[in-house]
Amino acid sequence: MTRHKQFLPGGRAKEGAYCTDLVVTPRRGPYNPGDIVENDMFNRLKLFPVAYVLCVSSLVMAEARLRPVWIGSESNLFVWTDTCNVYVLREGDAALLIDLGDGSVLDHLGEIGVRRVEWVLFTHHHREQCQGAAKLAAWKPQVAVPEIERALFEEPTRFRKAKPTLGDAYTVHGASYVRPPIESVRLNRTFKDLDVFTWRGREFRCLDTKGNSPGGMSYLWKVDGRWIGFSGDVMLDGAKMHTWFDTEWDYGFAKGLYELISSVSLLQSYAPAYLLPSHGEAVSRATEQLQEYQSKLRTLARLYVRGYEINTFGADDQDTVSKPTSIPDLWQVTPHLYKFKRKDFWPNFGILVADSGHALVFDCGLIGRDLLARSLAALQEQLGLQKIDAVLITHMHGDHFLDVPYLRQKWGAQVWTLQDVAGVCEHPERYDYAAMIPAYQAGFDSLPIDRIFQRGERFEWEGYTFTVDWMPGQTQFGCCIHGQIDGRHIAFTGDNLFGDPADPQQNGHEAVVARNSAIFEEGYIYGAEYLRSLVPDLIVAGHSWVMDRPQQMIERFAVWAHEIRDAYVSLSAEEDYRYMFDPYWVRAEPYRVFVKPGQTVDVTLHVRNFLSRPQKHRIEVHAPRGVNVEPSLLDSSVGPRSSGRFPLKINVPSDTKHGLRIVALDVTVDGKRYGEWFDLIACVAP
Ligand SMILES: [Zn+2]
Ligand SMILES: [Zn+2]
Repeated sequence: MTRHKQFLPGGRAKEGAYCTDLVVTPRRGPYNPGDIVENDMFNRLKLFPVAYVLCVSSLVMAEARLRPVWIGSESNLFVWTDTCNVYVLREGDAALLIDLGDGSVLDHLGEIGVRRVEWVLFTHHHREQCQGAAKLAAWKPQVAVPEIERALFEEPTRFRKAKPTLGDAYTVHGASYVRPPIESVRLNRTFKDLDVFTWRGREFRCLDTKGNSPGGMSYLWKVDGRWIGFSGDVMLDGAKMHTWFDTEWDYGFAKGLYELISSVSLLQSYAPAYLLPSHGEAVSRATEQLQEYQSKLRTLARLYVRGYEINTFGADDQDTVSKPTSIPDLWQVTPHLYKFKRKDFWPNFGILVADSGHALVFDCGLIGRDLLARSLAALQEQLGLQKIDAVLITHMHGDHFLDVPYLRQKWGAQVWTLQDVAGVCEHPERYDYAAMIPAYQAGFDSLPIDRIFQRGERFEWEGYTFTVDWMPGQTQFGCCIHGQIDGRHIAFTGDNLFGDPADPQQNGHEAVVARNSAIFEEGYIYGAEYLRSLVPDLIVAGHSWVMDRPQQMIERFAVWAHEIRDAYVSLSAEEDYRYMFDPYWVRAEPYRVFVKPGQTVDVTLHVRNFLSRPQKHRIEVHAPRGVNVEPSLLDSSVGPRSSGRFPLKINVPSDTKHGLRIVALDVTVDGKRYGEWFDLIACVAP
């Protein structure tokens, strides 16, 4: 049994033993409570040490207890930790709670003499803040949330779609970035920015600190003349970020990140003495930590936005190589290779016409049927096109094959791609990634593949030899198709890097989107190293980009890929940054389960271990009324750097009403409780 200190008022410490198998308390740099300077009246703030947090979350629940948090003259504040930190402010036998976690705090309030919960204030909607809300019914408190997140609490299923579209609220091209509770939470009040909430003489200033959540709020409270902030997920101790994937609100334009930086800056200007965050230790030296955090976030923001001209003069750099032909829209890249070019036009298309008149097309989308039909007819008449044998798909995004059904119908073209890309194109409904074909509402929801290549497989076609290989980058579901064309080594690379190779300011990287499934080791870092060793003479990328002599840009691209990964590492409180970056380390396949009343459907849970040692996972499946899941608890191990697969059965009783249900996956890894981070959707329909 390991022992650690229980902090008491006045700074005396008493040895106490609360927990078996306690991990050594990590000390994180200069922000340890022990560093609070003498004579600071706030040195009576005795912060719940991280050791305790680890202890509570290591499932030794019998010994879990409310911990006092001493702040100046305030001696009625406590913290409880399960899926998040729950702060309990007591007065007599009444209490106000900030956030709720899984609700187990309610079973312990009696220990500090609390009989009534008058208010619960939520900092934001994430499930790990409110997943125990159903337990509030017996306590009948008033519940308040940020006004911006009202609908996320009250109508959570509105934010999951059986069939997503590109423009759905709170999504990155159809993939949701909000994590609302599985059932609605009844509310009594909402707060707008700078509202003041008073409870038994204590005033809380409601501060809009969105960024990790679309309407995330901090509750600022003045104790002995200094601000204390209940700050939700704005920042964790050590100037760290709770999760990246909650802050990714768009397709690489950094809206969420910019909001977060603004919120950090605002909070910083209050010069708070302490922040009490939703996860981990209390934050002392809060102003300095916010400053450090802000500078890390600004570094990330610089690396994060695209590495080429976009929304400015990108069109000028798109292609400085190809030459006009007798067909105005079609330009010649090399003697046998053509593409579209016109002002401010970004389709996905390349066509290689062999001397025999047979052709291969590389991606086909965003052109429009009329222009495509006209151009192919002109190619037939003027440049000898006779037949399109196949269209090769570079990656899983729908905009790269919107016009493929036309090529199949009118030209008899087959569809070819790499094995890694094929499954996601053929069955997009099984996944929850950004920009999949159903979201485009193009009249088809999947793309059948006629020929599937293994990684590194070669094929011969009309005297050309091509290799199809795995090249992730912007997404893990991407490939590189390369070979000699007209005496040059040409690589078709999809949407990984764009730009003008001659401009030393550009590293070319496309959007960073965690919802493309794109951890850097299986994304941009891998892709950049791949291109480094491939040494192509010319890159024909997606969206009509052509990059001649790209070596120097590939070098800059590779340097950038490592730098941005390191920026996330510097922000991560996890042992491996991928836990806070990747929204898919626990995922259900299919993600959308279509089930009829009375039916049972099989689902596979994929659980990933990024570490180099085995991990124990405990996953509780939390289903709403009307959905049964077996087993409802998975206790398993996953080997080092690998994934486990676990079968689930989802059953819907025959009297279940039609509609969509959110099923949450409450995850604990090696004793660390994450809560309901992940979900799947059950779409109940006849
Ligand atoms: Zn959160
Ligand atoms: Zn793409």
